[in-house]
Formats: sequence, structure tokens, C-alpha cells
Amino acid sequence: MNVMLLGPPGAGKGTQAAHIVALLGIPHISTGDAFRLAIREQSVLGVRAKEFVDQGLLVPDEITIGIVFERCEKEDCAHGFLLDGFPRTIAQAQALDAWLHKRHTQLDHVVQLHVDTDILIERITGRIVCASCGATYHRHFAPTRTAGVCDACGGVVMSRADDAKEKVVVRLQEYEEKTAPLIEYYRERHILRTIDGKRSKEEVAAQLDALFVCSAP
Ligand code: ADP
Ligand code: AMP
Repeated sequence: MNVMLLGPPGAGKGTQAAHIVALLGIPHISTGDAFRLAIREQSVLGVRAKEFVDQGLLVPDEITIGIVFERCEKEDCAHGFLLDGFPRTIAQAQALDAWLHKRHTQLDHVVQLHVDTDILIERITGRIVCASCGATYHRHFAPTRTAGVCDACGGVVMSRADDAKEKVVVRLQEYEEKTAPLIEYYRERHILRTIDGKRSKEEVAAQLDALFVCSAP
């Protein structure tokens, strides 16, 4: 099954991706994680992406599309994948459709996590992530057991540079302008499933369980 998570920054895509991956047994492909890794490794891709990521802007399509399809070609994606943070523009969505069509497959579900802006800002500005394994926490809603230490791997937990308030404003503008049109794009294709993302992590996960149980073959 090929699934995509659609929603603004802070909607809970990464958080629920962990749940969906466990539920469906498909690999998680996050473009945000891929860019952060490339930036840490200072690869050619990382150097090119950094100037955009640091400003809260979308990385240009021609850079982004290539890295996603390279990942989707890997063997573990043979029975499907979960896309988190891709596509984020109509051009990326069209490129994905063409790529899937060529392989005689399609996106089965686009899961939209709907969350109001005031909640998004509260979530993003409180987000903390592990610098080693990327696990995500929240200062108030999902704190680590020991302050500053990752529960999963013992790594150092810190804020993301692009989660600073002034970057968040730019990222939300980018979302409204370039990504929100995808809601209509996928609604027209009858694969949009809208979930109430304002609820607790467990309640959102339960809505996802219901969605995937109902759509099981
Ligand atoms: P995204 O991947 O969409 O940017 P994340 O999954 O990283 O969003 O979530 C953003 C922040 O909100 C994180 O700090 C996460 O712990 C927290 N969070 C995610 N889902 C919920 C929820 N349902 N209720 C409260 N906080 C949440
Ligand atoms: P995320 O972790 O999904 O919030 O993404 C972090 C940053 O990576 C974004 O603010 C963008 O700069 C970049 N990025 C992630 N996915 C994409 C994409 N599909 N297209 C362009 N830029 C992206």
C-alpha cells in the first residue's frame, strides 16, 4: 500500500508516521529527515538544501524529486511506502503520479491531518528532537523521561533550528501557498482522507487504525 501524509508543519505527520509504519509494515520516507541527514553529513545535497531549509523555504522541486524517487526504488519499498512531507507542491505531485503510473501502481490514501494554526505554533515551538536518532518529543505534550536525553537512544535532545518562531511563520506561509492546493488535487482523485489532527496522539492514531481497517482488502 502506498500512503502519503499531508499536513502543515507541526500537524503530527512524523509522530503518526511511526504508528502507520508499525501498523502497515511499510517504510517511512520523510524528505525533512533526508534533508536534515544530508545537512549533518555536509554532502553535496546537504549543502544545496541547507540554504532553503535554514530559511524555512521549500527546497526546489528538481532537488527534492530526485532524492525521493531514488529512495522509492529501494527493495524495501517493493510492497509500498509511507511518504511524509512529500509531495509539497503540485509539480512534485505530478512527478509522483508519473513515477507511480510508470510502475503500474498508485497512491492508495492521502491522509490529511487537519490542525488549526494556533495549535500548530504551540506544537512546533515546543518540539524537541534527538540529534542522534531523530526521535521527536514535545516539551509539554510528550516530554522525555530525563530532560534533554532521548528515551530511545540516550542521545541529546534539542530544538530544531527551523522551529524558531520567525522560521515557523515562513514555513506556514510556504505551506498555505504551495502545499495546501494539494488538498483539492487529491480530493478530485478521491484518495483524500481527512483526520482530525487536533486530538491527542492516541486519539489520532485510533482514527488512523479505523481508516486502515476499513480499507483493508
Ligand atoms: P510534523 O511531522 O507534521 O511536522 P510532528 O509529528 O513532529 O509534526 O509533531 C510536532 C510536535 O507536536 C512534536 O513536538 C510532537 O511531539 C507534538 N505532537 C504530535 N502530535 C501531537 C498530538 N496529537 N498532540 C499533542 N502534541 C503532538
Ligand atoms: P519537515 O521535517 O517535513 O518539516 O521539513 C523540513 C524542511 O525540509 C522544510 O521546511 C523544507 O525546507 C524541506 N523540505 C522537506 N520536504 C520538502 C519537500 N517535499 N519539498 C521541498 N522542501 C522540503
